Amino acid sequence: MKNKFTILGCGSSLGAPWITNHWGNLNKKNKKNIRTRCCAHIFYQNISILIDTSPDIKEQIRKNKIKNIDAVIYTHEHADQTVGIFELRPFFWKNKKKIPVYGSKRTIELLRQKYTFCFSPRSGYKPIMSSNTFNEQFTIRKNNKMLKIRAIELQHGMIKANGFIFKKIAYLSDCNKIPKKSFNLFKNLDYLVIDCLRKNPHPSHFHFDETIRIAKKLSAKKTILTNLHVDLDYQSLKKKLPKNITPAYDGLSFNF
Ligand SMILES: [Zn+2]
Repeated sequence: MKNKFTILGCGSSLGAPWITNHWGNLNKKNKKNIRTRCCAHIFYQNISILIDTSPDIKEQIRKNKIKNIDAVIYTHEHADQTVGIFELRPFFWKNKKKIPVYGSKRTIELLRQKYTFCFSPRSGYKPIMSSNTFNEQFTIRKNNKMLKIRAIELQHGMIKANGFIFKKIAYLSDCNKIPKKSFNLFKNLDYLVIDCLRKNPHPSHFHFDETIRIAKKLSAKKTILTNLHVDLDYQSLKKKLPKNITPAYDGLSFNF
């Protein structure tokens, strides 16, 4: 199978539509406007890596026919990126092996506190995961294959989240600032997947004008906008964008 990156979900924390059937500015007829919560998948030389475990992870994994998970890498600890963690139990049963999860020191500490039962024995249930703290560079291995990943610390409102770079692809789903010292790491990419929450400024996320300004500076061959709120309709957004920038939709994938 080819190396493939898939956007499993490109919606903001409430997805689209909301649970209350609120569609905002979205055209209900366009399936690309139905968005599950932000999450992505890397398939590289038979290694299957999940980025975050959204509340929609079960549906996302089934829809995209992902048969196995070898590791999970976390951007940060917010609920819309983590609460699906519990759904991964069948992969533990299938492989008879704990699923290794990776995150910053802070993310791992908070995950271990919030989801104690995943990492430590509880009420007769076995832990299903092993936790690993990453440094700026880390490697995911399976048999004799490996993928080197760079974790870059980004500002995400009051906390720090991580963006990831591997091969010539970057994934920055949740951020409102790229530190100056790291900015150049995001240049010369084939694909830049980047936070573009909404039209108006937000304290924890890039908004449209900001994202486009950064995307133009970084000038990846292709930029994909993700973490989209209900005020950003797929078609209206696409019309406004230059050819090398596109809004994400659930299931968007590319080979690398
Ligand atoms: Zn967040």
